[in-house]
Amino acid sequence: MSSRLEEKLRADIVEIGRRLYARGFCASNDGNISIRFSDSRVLTTPKSVSKGFMTPDMMVVVDLDGKKISGDREASSELLMHLEVYRQRPDIVAVVHAHPPIATGFAVAGIPLDRAVLAEVLTTLGSIPIAEYATPSTKELPEAVRKYIKAHDGMLLANHGALTVGSDLFGAYYKMETIEHFAKISLVARLLGRENLIAREEVLRLQELRGSYGIKAPAPICLDETAADANCQVVQAPESTGSRLVADVINPPRPDEEIRLTYRELSALLEDAIRSLR
Ligand SMILES: [Zn+2]
Repeated sequence: MSSRLEEKLRADIVEIGRRLYARGFCASNDGNISIRFSDSRVLTTPKSVSKGFMTPDMMVVVDLDGKKISGDREASSELLMHLEVYRQRPDIVAVVHAHPPIATGFAVAGIPLDRAVLAEVLTTLGSIPIAEYATPSTKELPEAVRKYIKAHDGMLLANHGALTVGSDLFGAYYKMETIEHFAKISLVARLLGRENLIAREEVLRLQELRGSYGIKAPAPICLDETAADANCQVVQAPESTGSRLVADVINPPRPDEEIRLTYRELSALLEDAIRSLR
């Protein structure tokens, strides 16, 4: 017989699965959700089921080594990754994994979501790095996640998807929404040809607000790329002399860098130059 708390958590997992599926964050049987509901028990979604059509009785209870305690089905194929998160982060109670398409596009392109673009992302997630590619459902994946999980509550998984964690189920789920939303906005800004970035000083001011908002970040923001392996959230933010928003000058073209033009653009430039000679 499961406890009242367990009944509620089963129902919450069903609801989050529906939301992941309804928002297009998972196709087919993709994705998995889990919650650590006692010192030694984890409730997780089952293998080979669409997250949009689960029922509370489908969930599987395992111990922290992944051994099945109860349930008619087999636990999620990514259970090892969830257990690794619980091992590394005693403060974390819930884990959500999905394949939201825009964020996963960044993961495929190898572009981390680490630019200082949105205040709410800086105060909550800080930066969203990319864990190296690993074969899904193998031991490689938890190893790839281990590098970033101590300092981050959300990350992209190279050529795979995204992972978010939280101190409760909905907290972990909302971070998945934030990552996909941030990825969408970043994509639109880049398609429009310009990202205005939040300057370093303002990033540090936003970081200070974490305390007053009661946001418990696992690590501080750091603005130095060389600190990438340190226990901090590396954010790309420009220096500024006064302005709090700075045009994207993080990677200005080097003088010797190749610039590609279309035939039409090149012709226009040449015509312009010839006109100015006349
Ligand atoms: Zn996956």
